[in-house]
Amino acid sequence: MKQNLILFISIAILGGAIYYHFTKKPSYKAEKTIFSFLGAPGSGKGTLAEQCAQKLDYNVLSTGNLCRKHIADKTELGNKLQKYTNSGRLVPDHIIAVMVKGWLKENTKDNKAIVLDGYPRTEKQAILLFDMLKKDFPEYSLRIISLDISQDEVVKRISNRLVCNNKKCQAVYNTGQIKNIDDPLCELCDDKLIKRDNDKAEVVRERLKVYEQKAKKLLNFYKASRKKIENINVESKTIPQIFEEFKGIL
Ligand SMILES: [Zn+2]
Repeated sequence: MKQNLILFISIAILGGAIYYHFTKKPSYKAEKTIFSFLGAPGSGKGTLAEQCAQKLDYNVLSTGNLCRKHIADKTELGNKLQKYTNSGRLVPDHIIAVMVKGWLKENTKDNKAIVLDGYPRTEKQAILLFDMLKKDFPEYSLRIISLDISQDEVVKRISNRLVCNNKKCQAVYNTGQIKNIDDPLCELCDDKLIKRDNDKAEVVRERLKVYEQKAKKLLNFYKASRKKIENINVESKTIPQIFEEFKGIL
């Protein structure tokens, strides 16, 4: 009799634990959510975005990569973009917005969560995005995720970065990950890995200065619009740690 009671209690506890496990499991799907990752170059936005794509099946947009892809594919938009990059001019925000809208139209069909990797990065881009979402994607909600990091760590990280030369691949590597450093090759497509001119230490400090100025205006705009910023401190953290923290806020 006593044994039966113990068995009954054990099963009840186990059943309760299983029920708790399955009902309390957080959902990472975040359907119809657009995350905008904000952070200095080198803060790890791209890496976190990649994790979201691989492990959570999110659709990720990197405007830089998409620009380069349009140019490589010689699309109508790509030819326009090429004119700006050839002459060393910044691509105007309204042209980027057209590109983003086209991408969103394609990538919101399945209701998956979206990551905008480093977009918007200026106040103007944010205004255009707010308008676009209100008009064309009203069912989506926007969450701003800011990755916080010190300047020194950024300089250290970026000057150790190599990227795949294949415009259709553009995988990013840290010099510590590369097996043959004398002849570094991409593990995904076997193309050469190169250091972008943009990633050289002296250029990085200059980029950071420009970034800070734009970020300040952007943050002020969010504040004025009462848009909440969600912060993740990424200083001295590994990629899995940062990914876990991100999942923690979902
Ligand atoms: Zn590659």
